[in-house]
Amino acid sequence: MTVKTRFAPSPTGYLHVGGARTALYSWLYAKHNKGEFVLRIEDTDLERNSQEAVDAIMEGMEWLGLEWNEGPYFQTQRFDRYNEMVDVLLAQDKAYKCYASKELLDEVRAEQEANKEMARYDANHPKIKAANDAAKDGDPCVIRFRNPKEGSVVFDDQIRGRIEISNSQMDDLIIRRTDGSPTYNFCVVVDDWDMEITHVIRGEDHINNTPRQINIYEALGAPVPTFAHCAMILGDDGAKLSKRHGAVSVMQYRDMGYLPEALNNYLVRLGWSHGDQEIFSQEEMIEFFSLNAISKSASAFNTDKLLWLNNHYIKTSEPEYVAKHLQWHLDQQALNIENGPAITEVIKLVGERCNTLVELAEQIRYFYEDFAEFEAGAAKKHLRGVAKEPLEVALAKVEAIEEWTTENLHQMIADVCADLEIGMGKIGMPLRVAVTGGGQSPSVDAVMQLIGKARCVARIKMALAFIAEREANA
Ligand code: GLU
Repeated sequence: MTVKTRFAPSPTGYLHVGGARTALYSWLYAKHNKGEFVLRIEDTDLERNSQEAVDAIMEGMEWLGLEWNEGPYFQTQRFDRYNEMVDVLLAQDKAYKCYASKELLDEVRAEQEANKEMARYDANHPKIKAANDAAKDGDPCVIRFRNPKEGSVVFDDQIRGRIEISNSQMDDLIIRRTDGSPTYNFCVVVDDWDMEITHVIRGEDHINNTPRQINIYEALGAPVPTFAHCAMILGDDGAKLSKRHGAVSVMQYRDMGYLPEALNNYLVRLGWSHGDQEIFSQEEMIEFFSLNAISKSASAFNTDKLLWLNNHYIKTSEPEYVAKHLQWHLDQQALNIENGPAITEVIKLVGERCNTLVELAEQIRYFYEDFAEFEAGAAKKHLRGVAKEPLEVALAKVEAIEEWTTENLHQMIADVCADLEIGMGKIGMPLRVAVTGGGQSPSVDAVMQLIGKARCVARIKMALAFIAEREANA
C-alpha cells in the first residue's frame, strides 16, 4: 500500500514554525516511504479564513521546498461530498436528527453541572427526548453522529504509544449544523478517507479529536489511518511558542536571512533525533526519518542553534545557491551588484563570517559601492598620523602591481612591513579601513583583490586625504 500523508492547515494566517514542522514530518514520512504528500486547505471557517492566508501558507511551503504531489484541495469545495456521507449515515441510523434548541441544551448543561455530573449531550435526557419527540419534520435540526455507547476506542499512536478512550467519555457529535454545513471532525474523516491518507501526522492539540474521528471512520466503513501526534513547540521560557517569543512565521525567517535548509534542519531536529547527528542534508533526513524517533515531550525553540545551523549552510552550500537566496536581501537593502566582483566570489570570502543573509548583504556593500565616509570609530583608531607613511608606501606598491592577485597583494603588504621595519598591524588595519571603510573584514589581501585595483587606489588616496585633513585640524 502506498504511504500517503497530508498537511491540512486552516488558513487563518501565515505558516508558523509549528505547522511547518508538522508539514515537514508528513513530507519526510511520505518521501522516506516513496509515498505521496497531499496539501489540503481546511477552510470551512469562513469568518477566520482568507485567500491571503492560503497564499501565505503555500508561499511558506514552497520556500521550504515541501512540494506536494496532490492538491491543494479545499474543503469548501467538497460540501456536497460531506453532505452525501451525512445522508448515508442518516439512512443507516448511524446518525440522527436532533431538534433540541440551544437554550434547552444550555439548561440541561447547567443542570448537569449543578449535579456535579459530566456536562455532555445526552440523547436520553428526559427534556431532550421530549423536545425530539415533539418536533415535526422540517423543524430546524442538527444531525448528530450516534457515537457507540459501549466499549472504548484504542489506537497505537506512533509517537505516544497506545491510547484508549472510553466511549462513555464521548457524546454524540454534531456532524451537520442547522444551516446545513458539515462540521470539522466529520469533514476531516471524509477527506482522509477519500484522499486515501494512510498516516495522519498532526499536532497534539488534535489528539482529543482522534477517538471521535475513529468512530466515524468505522461507521463509514472506511479504513482507519495510522496516527502520530507531535508534541508542542515551546518558547525559551517554557510557554507554548507564540508571537511574543519573536518570529513564528516561516516567511519571517526568510526575511531575517535564513536559508530554507537551515530552517528545515532545525525543525527536523526539534523533536526528532537520529543518534546525536545535528546536520542533515535533505537526502539524509529522508533516509533516516521515522515516526518512532519523534519525541513525546515538548521541545523548546533555540534561536542560537538555528543561527549556528544557518551559518553552517551559508558556509557550506554552493555559492551560486546562496547567491540565489541572497538576491532577495540585496534587493531589500537596495544593493546593486552589477558594478563589482562576482557575487559568488564575495560569498566564498565573506559568507563564513555571517550567521544570516541579512548580515551578509550588509557586510558586502563596500565591494560594490564607494563610500563617502569612513566608519568614525575605525577611522579614529586607525587612520592617524602614524599610518600616513605606511599607506603612502602601500599606495605606490599597489599602483605598481601588474598582476592583481591575492598573492601579489599579500607580498605587497609584507614588502611594506620590511621596507619600513614595521609590524603587520601598522599597515594591515589602516589598509583595511582605507579599502573597506570599516574595521572588520576578511583577510585584507583577498578583500583588495576582489575590490579591484582602481577602487583600492582611489580609497587609499581618500584615506591619506582624511589623515592630512585630520593633521591639519589638530
Ligand atoms: N486544520 C487543522 C489545523 O490546522 C489540522 C487538522 C488535522 O491535521 O487533522 O490545526
